[in-house]
Amino acid sequence: MENRCNGDGKESFKPPEIKFTKLFVNGQFVDSVSGKTFETVNPATGEVIAKVAEGVEADIDLAVKAAREAFDHGRWPRMSGFERGRIMSKFADLIEQNIEELAALDSVDAGKLLASGKTVDIPHCLHILRYYAGAADKIHGETLKLAGEYQGYTLLEPIGVVGHIIPWNYPSTMFLMKSSPALAAGCTMVIKPAEQTPLSALFYAHLAKQAGIPDGVINVVNGFGPTAGAALCSHMNVDAISFTGSTETGRLVMEAAAKSNLKTVSLELGGKSPLIIFDDADVDMAGEICVAGSRVYVQEGIYDEFVRKAAESAKSWVVGDPFDPNVQQGPQVDKTQFERVLSYIELGKTEGATLLTGGTRCGDKGYYIEPTIFTDVKEEMRIAQEEIFGPVMSLMKFKTIEEAIEKANATRYGLAAGIVTKDLNTANRVTRSVRAGTIWINCYFAFDPGCPFGGYKMSGFGRDLGMHAINKYLQVKSVVTPLHSSPWL
Ligand code: NAD
Repeated sequence: MENRCNGDGKESFKPPEIKFTKLFVNGQFVDSVSGKTFETVNPATGEVIAKVAEGVEADIDLAVKAAREAFDHGRWPRMSGFERGRIMSKFADLIEQNIEELAALDSVDAGKLLASGKTVDIPHCLHILRYYAGAADKIHGETLKLAGEYQGYTLLEPIGVVGHIIPWNYPSTMFLMKSSPALAAGCTMVIKPAEQTPLSALFYAHLAKQAGIPDGVINVVNGFGPTAGAALCSHMNVDAISFTGSTETGRLVMEAAAKSNLKTVSLELGGKSPLIIFDDADVDMAGEICVAGSRVYVQEGIYDEFVRKAAESAKSWVVGDPFDPNVQQGPQVDKTQFERVLSYIELGKTEGATLLTGGTRCGDKGYYIEPTIFTDVKEEMRIAQEEIFGPVMSLMKFKTIEEAIEKANATRYGLAAGIVTKDLNTANRVTRSVRAGTIWINCYFAFDPGCPFGGYKMSGFGRDLGMHAINKYLQVKSVVTPLHSSPWL
């Protein structure tokens, strides 16, 4: 195949049949009001996979009406938590039965590796959905001890109609990470998938209906950010927006919410997460962890050895067809992202960083980029400050723990950070000094449904995952009533 760098060329899977391309509104697949469609492209080949209905303001309006009706008058918010959880478990079972097809849709649409889709990503989605299915009947308020002759308690009520706006990097995980806690809370919702990756979202909507989630509870409107996304954020009948995407777009989401009905907003935004590797680290283990790091700080004692091993490992990294089980890295999601990453690589060179490995596209078809490592990167360089969101790593040297902490904190982001060390005191000190929403110690990119995820600083606010995420979809009602002739206050 022309598009691979070093995959073995084995064609291992037939691309999936595309069954759903319309909008999903009030339990039905429907054309957009205008009848317009847009193309979704396979990033491995640059070829069009399907034409998908394009939702704009009028379609968002219909979807919000359906969600509003389902919330104000429907069964879902009024059902017992136990019953909601039972239906959510059935939804999970149906996803499990269709795991191959769902993973294949994300491979063909987003360039995700099929093998990790089947064994890591979709199983993680199932875990998330089942976690929140189990939580649905454990949402409760408090009894309050009030001064005077009153008694009080709180009710945790679903916030209402939620708009979920999601990016392309994990289409399945994002869909379930957003929808599951909102379902558990009893909300209804309109989901706008990323325009690059609408296909699996439509399949999930179909499975949700089969599982018994009532019409209008989950609506999916494909479309672009400035049209469909913006209409959702400024809609007067949407009660909350849960957004994941870039910091720049997050700002627009907040503005739209402020200018409309002051809806609640939670933002999961960009990151430039540091990984700090101390001299006492096992260099091989650190090398395995560092594949996902974008800013990697290595202490001077092991820096040279680490650079050599990182270069070797990047060169042996297999880039190619996401359907090939031997491949470790697929294509960038689309032409725009591909060109953006390549332009950052050019910028790194002109800023004076040293290109250690990679730096160019792979093959002549599809959006593949070689794993790229820069050394001699300085904090002030844009490649060290801005989110590249591609296979580009900056390696930097540090001497002391104080210097590592200062450098780790020297960006406007605070999504996550990693520490590799055998010294517990070092790990504890860095953990409490780095301003980030998640710290991984001697691991990286370890996620669990029970572990809240979200940013500090300009990486956003609010948390997905864990019981914290349910709070985004609830509001607190205080109930106060007098106590007459009670022997106890
Ligand atoms: P993006 O902000 O351009 O798009 C994200 C979503 O927002 C898409 O669905 C898009 O259509 C929509 N959108 C765009 N303009 C909009 C507007 N004006 N109003 C409402 N919605 C709008 O981001 P992207 O380039 O698609 O995704 C990559 C970004 O997502 C990166 O910055 C990455 O760091 C971030 N991200 C963050 C997390 C996290 O958990 N913090 C997770 C994954 C991705």
